[in-house]
Amino acid sequence: MAKPNTKSVKIKITGIVQGVGFRPHVYRLAQETRVRGWVLNSSEGVYIEAEGLEEQVSLFCRLLVENPPPLAVIKDCHIEEQRPKGYKEFVIKESRAEKYKTAMISPDIAVCQDCISEVSNPLDRRYGYPFTNCTNCGPRFTIIKDVPYDREKTTMASFPMCEECQKEFEDPSHRRFHAQPNACPKCGPQMQVVDPEGRVFEVKPVGILRAGKILAVKGLGGFHLAVDATNPDAVARLRERKKREAKPFAVMARDLDVVRKYCYVNEKEAFWLTSPQAPIVILKRKQEAFLPDDVIHPGISTMGVMLPYTPLHFLLFDRNIELLIMTSANIADEPLIIDNAEALEKLKDVADFFLVHNREIYNPCDDSVLRITACGDVQFYRRARGFVPRGLEVPLGSKPVLAVGGEIKNTFCLTRNNEAYLSQHLGDLNHYLNFQRFQEAVERFTRMIGVCPQVVAHDMHPNYQSTLWAKQQKDLHRVEVQHHHAHLASCMAENQLKGEVLGVICDGTGWGTDGAVWGMEVLQGGYEGFKRRGHLRYVPLAGGDATVKKPWRMAFIYLWDVFGEKALELADEWWAGFEQEERKILAMQLHKGINLVPTSSCGRLFDAVSAFLGVCYFNRYEGQAAIELEEKIDGLERGLYPYQLEKTGDCWIMDVRPMWKALVRDREKQMPERAMAARFHRTLVSMLLEVVARVGEETGIEGVVLSGGSFHNQFLLSELKQGLEELGFKVYHQTKVPPSDGGLALGQAVVAQALSSK
Ligand code: ZN
Ligand code: ZN
Ligand code: FE
Repeated sequence: MAKPNTKSVKIKITGIVQGVGFRPHVYRLAQETRVRGWVLNSSEGVYIEAEGLEEQVSLFCRLLVENPPPLAVIKDCHIEEQRPKGYKEFVIKESRAEKYKTAMISPDIAVCQDCISEVSNPLDRRYGYPFTNCTNCGPRFTIIKDVPYDREKTTMASFPMCEECQKEFEDPSHRRFHAQPNACPKCGPQMQVVDPEGRVFEVKPVGILRAGKILAVKGLGGFHLAVDATNPDAVARLRERKKREAKPFAVMARDLDVVRKYCYVNEKEAFWLTSPQAPIVILKRKQEAFLPDDVIHPGISTMGVMLPYTPLHFLLFDRNIELLIMTSANIADEPLIIDNAEALEKLKDVADFFLVHNREIYNPCDDSVLRITACGDVQFYRRARGFVPRGLEVPLGSKPVLAVGGEIKNTFCLTRNNEAYLSQHLGDLNHYLNFQRFQEAVERFTRMIGVCPQVVAHDMHPNYQSTLWAKQQKDLHRVEVQHHHAHLASCMAENQLKGEVLGVICDGTGWGTDGAVWGMEVLQGGYEGFKRRGHLRYVPLAGGDATVKKPWRMAFIYLWDVFGEKALELADEWWAGFEQEERKILAMQLHKGINLVPTSSCGRLFDAVSAFLGVCYFNRYEGQAAIELEEKIDGLERGLYPYQLEKTGDCWIMDVRPMWKALVRDREKQMPERAMAARFHRTLVSMLLEVVARVGEETGIEGVVLSGGSFHNQFLLSELKQGLEELGFKVYHQTKVPPSDGGLALGQAVVAQALSSK
């Protein structure tokens, strides 16, 4: 029988409480406060029953909430008093599967300091062991097949723990108490170095890198290609072998000091580099630091840098190797490679050696990429490892929605009540293998989050793979969401906004309600709908994809738009001999008006100006021309070009023809491209400011959201934000999901929530 002054409570905790050492933490707290009872991990969250003296139980409850383990996120803690049950001790109970899964799965977590100390201590039994982890760090999302999170439900199930590991696992006072992926050299996964024929080599990975060889490395969420970044020949060979690839390579630095040697690092950047999420952070590089720049990051002054995030990565560095190219190992636009055999097959002409291991990657996951913006906030380029599948709180709740996202940079989004779960980056769905992985990921994510979607939301574009797929889901209620409306809603949702806002959407391509290709839009609206209140004046987009890949075509289209036939003379004078034949065909097409789609794309305008100034004629990766144009901005130039605003109905048309005339004059005067690039950027900002100011006056709306891929442009983002704030607007942008199509699904999801809850 329980003593008379015994208090007993029942506690339910939800949030990120699995795979973050929550139960051992509860157990230790129970020991410290001398309460009795039990703790249980279920797929709904953590359940606890605790009893003891009144003060002990209150202290226990207080510490539980106030001092959660470092990686836990408590969303809700429900405490209910109950009749004492007379527990004699505190125990950890077996997991049980629940009907409703509301527990959240933790993202993968970068290796912790304690584990690193062990791995680097020659006397430790885990010395040099690449799969060392504990409750505070290690693989999670990438190895989890189902909830609740237990070893049997992960890809570690095939590695029974040895006696010593089992002891740690069962010892409540140990850092590895209930660390599901716990492993050691005796019982855990093993790595191997093999050549393209699969022959095993007894060499250290770092030795291969020191010799300037290309090493394919199986990491946490997929394969990387690694090569010594300070070795120009080796880097050039990698670039060569990865054919057609012009994208800047990301690098991994041995430690923060090495990062500082090559790049400028402020406090916030250092925080993210060393965070448990360990993303790639885009940094300004130091000009004086010698690196084979042209091959690592051609045409740009920034560099994507990350730090080693698993013990395996630490084995790639030594005194001589301090900076490695670490680029995702995939062929062209295919998905990230995750499987040993597939790597050997697909990378046999790229990698000299392979560092492989026998722990299966279940959920492929790229590195996340972010930057600290000129405004001092985080901006995501890619949200994946370290962040997925963490949920985002959204202002509405309704039936479960599956939003399937866009086409390139696809992510999808699942909602469960007022939480939205954005998937990892899945790439370009136009590629069949990516599309296959998309379908697989939808199925796995749905199971993991434990929802059965009732509504499917998709883009208006009739030919997106995601749209076609959504239309096949006959059992689901279908909601079509306009692309830029989704961008607006995405920014609203992550900022927890409700009601109506104005949205400045600066974007590449999105299907408009009138069948045109939209891109630079001023919208007025909320989750349930929108009105188009402003847009860039249409120009004819001839030859869609070809023009996206060839910015010079867009420059010619704009010149044609302003000067008509005379554009040919101008072009012949400036670009004599360059793509002359194709230009003639393009002119003919424009002349006859064949296959022209009107467009207000912001991305295409950037492309056109970039090519016009001779900065970039071909987009060899998405956004290249715009990125390189931004690089050219002369910070001291204050000039502006003229533009015209015209109102049609209640929509402001932004006409940049006067700007193009001025650009041509400046060019004829041989004004430096840097000055013209600056003037162009300033013109866009002031034109948008004017339109928003007018619509703001007409509507009285004070909140403005900024979204769309062009907001990766730091000048546009910071100048527009500042300008709008000076006009008295409250400005929001995206700091939790990418402003580009990588964040589109979140917007689609909340729009569908709003429309289907009516
Ligand atoms: Zn650890
Ligand atoms: Zn072991
Ligand atoms: Fe977009």
